[in-house]
Amino acid sequence: MKYKDLIKQMTLEEKASLMSGQNFWNTKAIERLGIPSIMLTDGPHGLRKQGGKADHLGLNKSLPATCYPTAATLANSWDKSLVYNVGQDIGKEARSEKVSVLLGPGLNIKRNPLCGRNFEYFSEDPYLTGELASEMVKGIQSNGISACPKHYAVNSQEHMRMTIDEIVDERSLREIYLTGFEKVVKKSNPYTMMSSYNKVNGEFANENQHLANDILYSEWGFDGVVVTDWGGNNDRVAGLKAHNQLEMPSTNGITDKEIVDAINAGTLDESILDEAVEQLLSLIYKVRLDDKESVQVDYEDHHNKAVEAALQSIVLLKNENSILPLKAGTNVAVIGDFAKNPRYQGAGSSLINPYKLSNSLDRLQKSSLNIAGYAQGFKRMGTKSSKLVQEATSLAKSAEVVLLFIGLDESKEAEGVDREDLTLAQNQLELVESLAKVNKNIIVVLSGGGALELPFADKVQAILHTYLSGQGGGEAVVDLLLGKSNPSGKLSETFPFSYTDVPSSTYYPGHQATSEHREGLFIGYRYYETANVPVRYPFGYGLSYTTFKYSDMVIDGLNVSFHLTNTGEIAGAEIAQLYIEKVDSVIFRSKKELKGFHKVYLEPGETKQVTLALTERDFSYYNPEIKNWEVESGNYKIQIGSSIQKIHLEETLKMDGVSPSIFLKSEYPHYALANVKQIPDLEFEKILGRKLPPKNWDRHKDLGMNDTINQAQYKNWIGKLLYRSIMFFHFYFKKIGKPLTANNVYFVINMPFRQIDRFTGGKVSKKNVERLLRWINQ
Ligand code: BGC
Repeated sequence: MKYKDLIKQMTLEEKASLMSGQNFWNTKAIERLGIPSIMLTDGPHGLRKQGGKADHLGLNKSLPATCYPTAATLANSWDKSLVYNVGQDIGKEARSEKVSVLLGPGLNIKRNPLCGRNFEYFSEDPYLTGELASEMVKGIQSNGISACPKHYAVNSQEHMRMTIDEIVDERSLREIYLTGFEKVVKKSNPYTMMSSYNKVNGEFANENQHLANDILYSEWGFDGVVVTDWGGNNDRVAGLKAHNQLEMPSTNGITDKEIVDAINAGTLDESILDEAVEQLLSLIYKVRLDDKESVQVDYEDHHNKAVEAALQSIVLLKNENSILPLKAGTNVAVIGDFAKNPRYQGAGSSLINPYKLSNSLDRLQKSSLNIAGYAQGFKRMGTKSSKLVQEATSLAKSAEVVLLFIGLDESKEAEGVDREDLTLAQNQLELVESLAKVNKNIIVVLSGGGALELPFADKVQAILHTYLSGQGGGEAVVDLLLGKSNPSGKLSETFPFSYTDVPSSTYYPGHQATSEHREGLFIGYRYYETANVPVRYPFGYGLSYTTFKYSDMVIDGLNVSFHLTNTGEIAGAEIAQLYIEKVDSVIFRSKKELKGFHKVYLEPGETKQVTLALTERDFSYYNPEIKNWEVESGNYKIQIGSSIQKIHLEETLKMDGVSPSIFLKSEYPHYALANVKQIPDLEFEKILGRKLPPKNWDRHKDLGMNDTINQAQYKNWIGKLLYRSIMFFHFYFKKIGKPLTANNVYFVINMPFRQIDRFTGGKVSKKNVERLLRWINQ
């Protein structure tokens, strides 16, 4: 123990006091021993440092900072060095503001496209997620501060996020939900990690012995500090026993006392606290900034880098008759509110106060195009206006081309709530219909943090998906439309035709006690490819203004090489992808899995050799019986493609391994065919290795601190009144066109009672909450 002597000088109370925050964003200092306080703050695609009032929902202002594209957007760049650079910049801004721990990146897997926070996460694929998130961690930490990958683990839904129990089998847990975190720990050594609010297989993530002790610390060798998500502590002593060293934010000393009491009562070994203090001190002394040189940020330079990040990440989904890039002098009608007031980031704890914000309309007006005019076209929040549609339609009639800026607005995706559907607001769909009747040359510029249903795709000539492209997105879009830059982003998630195609659509979200992951590992492309379900746009897909040729594939050991040539007239970048497919597998598994990728920039006519290195692990599945990874013997197709569906080169590689005795297709008839939308109880229980816990709340049991306000609706009149009054405000704010406030009110409904005293800053004390519970339970 490096800090043994220092720890010896501390009283029990002092040691326990370090285990929770001083306030919303800082750890406690112990002045008498010279132990400094450090600051932790959001993240993840920019710095959210609040100067005044603090909150974890993005309600109060933060200092101006650079708002980079969100993770869902950056992931479409498939560009590791770009993601590293973005991490480095954000880390620099954090360091310049004396922030020692930046709360990000977020790397939960996009189990279902409705998750309200998908815009903050990288992909439906764990390999891509892990590779990119590792780069971001390295970039952030290159500033001598800590990144804080979050939310460990299986935080796949926002609905009931503080109490929902994610029921997932061990193989899917390892292969899908933990692989990204594992890569991050092993490749980039983050100094901290944030545990998630939810439960995983019956235990809260921050008290989960299996997730923390067995996997994170013992197996992966993590030696940093685990921080609770804000207000995510449940049983402090259980948390500490599961390596949850730092509870944030402050609990006004309440839980520090619980630790002291447990040690005095003999239910907690003091050595566990000492170890936690040691880990925390190691962090503090590594990332403290009070003794380090201050750094200066060139915000103009960071803005330009934010533009570059957007340029690399925006995806061209459709380009009929090469309508794009637009030629100088084209007569263009600019329609859609997002052209003027961009939708460029999400809502919640990641809300950045952008240092500068560009919009496409300004840039278009200064461009070589002939702008026929601008029409707002639609109101945000779905509010209908036939006047706006008429104005836009008559403008569209007069122009050669319509540039239509539509997408998801702020009410459609946010932290704390899941999306209700995959559609655009009805008023926007009606606008597209109306414009398509008068102009055949519509180019749709989409904004939004994830996959969407695109029923109008056949009625428009081009679609450019900007995702949430940060403060420079407005400029980047125009450069791409004009061909000053060549689109090179590719989808890091699948776009289904309709939500009902989504494999977890029959289970998602869990509504009461549990969320059952019956679809197992068949999420995203793993399902669509294996079950042969057609999709609108596949994983890894994206167009360019130039063309590429793949040739000369060679496999040498586990190294795969090939040539990539730009066969077009202009420079551009291609994202080459490597998938493996087991030939005649006896176990059920995804038909294809991504195991390598590389983004290559090529001048016209230029050829480069690409080499991708595979490892044994890339061929492995997780076997819970031996608690290890193993390779199934036999032949594997190694495929090089420009998307999961467009494979250009293929060779076969023989691997030595085992003849599997578990996960046999013959024993799992539904999983064998990826027929996962209606997995019978018995098949799910078999793969889970235990009986299913009750899915719904027990309406008759007394409510406790870890139950939600939502459940009070089943209790006596006091409970019903509490529930109904909150729901009244939720509907009221929705009705008067304040969906963001409505979302925040809804958030309260899903809050456990234990949160009330913290949420109200102690105004409603724990004692009063206990009293309230007694009344409700009468
Ligand atoms: C979010 C975290 C965030 C924290 C602090 C929570 O609501 O889940 O991602 O870092 O607040 O703002």
